[in-house]
Amino acid sequence: MTRISYDDICAWLREDDPDRLASLWERADTVRRETVGDAVHLRGLLEISNHCCRMCTYCGLRAGNRKLRRYRMDEGEIMSSVFNALMAGYGTVVLQAGEDYGIEGLWLADIVRRIKSETPLAVTLSMGERPQKDLVLWRDAGADRYLLRFETSDPVLYPLIHPSAPDRHQHRVDIVRQLKQIGYETGSGIMIGIPGQGYESLARDIHLFEALDLDMIGVGPYIPHPDTPMGRNELKKLPAAEQVPNTELMTYKVIALTRMVCPEANIPATTALATVNRTEGIKTGLRRGANIVMPNLTPVQYRSLYEIYPEKGCIEGPSGASGVIDPRSLYNLYQRLHDIGRTVGDGQGNRRRG
Ligand code: SF4
Repeated sequence: MTRISYDDICAWLREDDPDRLASLWERADTVRRETVGDAVHLRGLLEISNHCCRMCTYCGLRAGNRKLRRYRMDEGEIMSSVFNALMAGYGTVVLQAGEDYGIEGLWLADIVRRIKSETPLAVTLSMGERPQKDLVLWRDAGADRYLLRFETSDPVLYPLIHPSAPDRHQHRVDIVRQLKQIGYETGSGIMIGIPGQGYESLARDIHLFEALDLDMIGVGPYIPHPDTPMGRNELKKLPAAEQVPNTELMTYKVIALTRMVCPEANIPATTALATVNRTEGIKTGLRRGANIVMPNLTPVQYRSLYEIYPEKGCIEGPSGASGVIDPRSLYNLYQRLHDIGRTVGDGQGNRRRG
């Protein structure tokens, strides 16, 4: 059942009155407290490769970006980062990469099996639009969750931001449905303020979250990367009254509305939010509907190379090239959660169902 109508979503997206918006934040926070509680689950994010064969027009990892130095972590590096996640008390490790066929299906399946047999961690994968045989192989190896953001479902915008692979024409929304059938807890999400994205288009995406019954939903503002077609302004904006702005405020509205549309979903306060507001973005996101934080586990020598957009913010994570977690940064994170009346979640933080 829809808790908030499509028309209401459209109206809230255009709302700018601070008092009325305060009531939206309060409603979203109440729904969050009553459905997923005060615990904030920590998911350690490990960016295992920045190779990618795709040409998404917004993304700095796109194959066409020759300026980027590429890396791929080996099994030893991945496992030592995974143990760092365990020592830090995280419940999940998220292995993320571009669509990199240098990561072979069987190789990653072995790593997933190792993590599942040597640790109690949940494993989330975010490996792009891989073929079904890989998705099934990894699920059979024990992977719990899969993330694939469709970014926009708008039929005009989608092909402009996600050019098809030469040999495939699969829509990410269809792959999201496939992931659910395979048995993953499934996450997706969108980008806010893509040039050409109107309010009704954004409202339809939020509405679609509910239809897809997503377990995890990540949303973040579009941040231009200068070495991409979108960053070079090759996509046309709509007239100002119609164009969704890629602002921090709009991102909070979408987080709050997403919480109301999908009360039980796990919703992160994303790295993109930490990028647009380094000091308050995560805390504010958590107060307006989010319940997940994804500290970065990627060894420092690789972190700046995982440049989907420039000057990416970072949520406290490992402090040195060894990737060992600095206890002070972890303490700071716990303290910041405590300051807003939240606790750190135990266990894997799977989706709750009411
Ligand atoms: S969004 Fe993903 S698939 Fe697209 S270019 Fe970036 S890393 Fe590759």
